Amino acid sequence: MLLLNCPYCGVDAEETELSPGGEAHLTRHGPGSSEEEFHDYLFTRENPRGVHFERWRHAHGCGKWFHAARCTQTLEVFGTYTAQTSEPPQHIRDAISEKRPGWQWRGLS
Ligand SMILES: [Zn+2]
Repeated sequence: MLLLNCPYCGVDAEETELSPGGEAHLTRHGPGSSEEEFHDYLFTRENPRGVHFERWRHAHGCGKWFHAARCTQTLEVFGTYTAQTSEPPQHIRDAISEKRPGWQWRGLS
């Protein structure tokens, strides 16, 4: 069972209380962007086997969107954080690096 702590209301929410929102930290492209950039924004996802950043909504709770860092292979959760970030916060990256030495994401570790 997936259990994620909502960073807004502090509740440890079961998966049935949450709605998935796909990959987090997508770079949005709109008017003025190339067709390739817009195509990648719509269709290209990382889908890693390992550390992944996801969007979740506390649908049956406070209703807010947040991000979760977890391992898709082991289902280990490294942490959750508010959705108002363009990249994972340092304390989340430190928690991942502690358990997955050498881990990197888009040049960050
Ligand atoms: Zn909540």
